[in-house]
Amino acid sequence: MGLKMGMIPVKKALEAILDQVQRMGTEKMDLLHSLGRVLAEPVASVRDHPPWNSSAMDGYAVCHGELSQASEQRSVLLEVIEEIAAGVLPQKAIQPGQASRIMTGAPVPEGADAVIRVEDTRTEGNRVRVIQPVEAGENVRLRGEDIQSGNVVLEQNSVIGPAEVGLLASVGRSHVLVYQRPRVAILATGNELADLGEALGPNKIMNSNGYAVAAQVIEAGGVPVLLGVAKDTREELSDRLAQGLSADLILISGGVSVGEYDFVKDVLDELGATMAFWKVAMKPGEPLAFGMLKTKPAFGLPGNPVSTMVTFEQFVRPALRKMQGHALLFRPVIEAVLMERITKKTGKTHFLRAVVKKTADRYEVWTTGSQSSGVLTSMVKANGLLIFPSESGEIEKGRTVQVQLLGKNLSDKTFTGYLAKRDCRVL
Ligand code: AMP
Ligand code: MG
Repeated sequence: MGLKMGMIPVKKALEAILDQVQRMGTEKMDLLHSLGRVLAEPVASVRDHPPWNSSAMDGYAVCHGELSQASEQRSVLLEVIEEIAAGVLPQKAIQPGQASRIMTGAPVPEGADAVIRVEDTRTEGNRVRVIQPVEAGENVRLRGEDIQSGNVVLEQNSVIGPAEVGLLASVGRSHVLVYQRPRVAILATGNELADLGEALGPNKIMNSNGYAVAAQVIEAGGVPVLLGVAKDTREELSDRLAQGLSADLILISGGVSVGEYDFVKDVLDELGATMAFWKVAMKPGEPLAFGMLKTKPAFGLPGNPVSTMVTFEQFVRPALRKMQGHALLFRPVIEAVLMERITKKTGKTHFLRAVVKKTADRYEVWTTGSQSSGVLTSMVKANGLLIFPSESGEIEKGRTVQVQLLGKNLSDKTFTGYLAKRDCRVL
């Protein structure tokens, strides 16, 4: 089945979006606030790490030669000439017949080439009896073993997680250059919408999209700028959108369809936006617009709460990640065994809300049941989106399908409990 007029495939839509969005500028960030950001510079070490040959154990720094045959029967008695705590430099070189007491991390003194563990010795006054053989280099971490001075320890575009923070601290970086977070203007549209804190009249529903999308923006690393709710009039839409122009990206929810009060298209045209497309061959989410408003990427997301969230996942999240310098733009996709038969009309890619369970040797996947695009509770239950390809009309139970994971815990009790109920109904 061919595509309807003006409707473009998911892949083409994604390409058009990623072509247009640009990486953000950079900013200097203090180390802890750089968590979750993407490095905008390569970071090199200015020092070897460890900076000296250091002890990996609490024990005695020794010269291994005279101890290579040591045992209970052939024990060797050494004179202890010094104690080297972590944080002090050794004052004395080791001569044959001598040892220095040494703590983990402390510099190994000259003349020593191994450290023997305390457990392999017996103390006798100011002497130590070695009762185990020692090999050259044993329990010694060589200078520069982890990092050599001048080595790039983190490449540009690395994502900064806790281990990276530790590494940056270890090379003395209190500040790093990272890509800025995009500010994302979010405008909900609809005469029927009330905002949180407003009285909910009999003709109103809550603006849930504004908040769901703001949460998705935060999760994707952006900074939401809530523009509230615009009534379905050209004037109000136009005024509110003008306020959004100082942001880096603009999201509009609702009003992009072909209803009598869907003015988003008109207003974007009036404001001189150049739109790449208005419809994508997908479900949920067919009415989905993308283009440039002045210099800012702008999305018209469908109003149905599930469609809004699913289209955000597919298109806005990768765009926001590209803007922040991420190399990995997409959620992980896994292969899972389909636990029920599914059918649809061909011609559109469907993203089915799904529950994935990990068993001993495979992933298993169920749909959450109703796929109506208004059922937000099914988004809460889902931990994945099952990709039902455009050209496919049915997939039998037992076949392997692709599932996009939504970053939730697969072994969460909620899902297990939910699955128990689903098992009764479906299997
Ligand atoms: P629309 O795309 O404007 O035709 O909206 C489609 C459906 O989504 C309608 O049932 C709207 O009431 C609902 N909807 C639109 N915007 C929101 C929103 N911000 N929060 C919750 N539901 C919405
Ligand atoms: Mg509407």
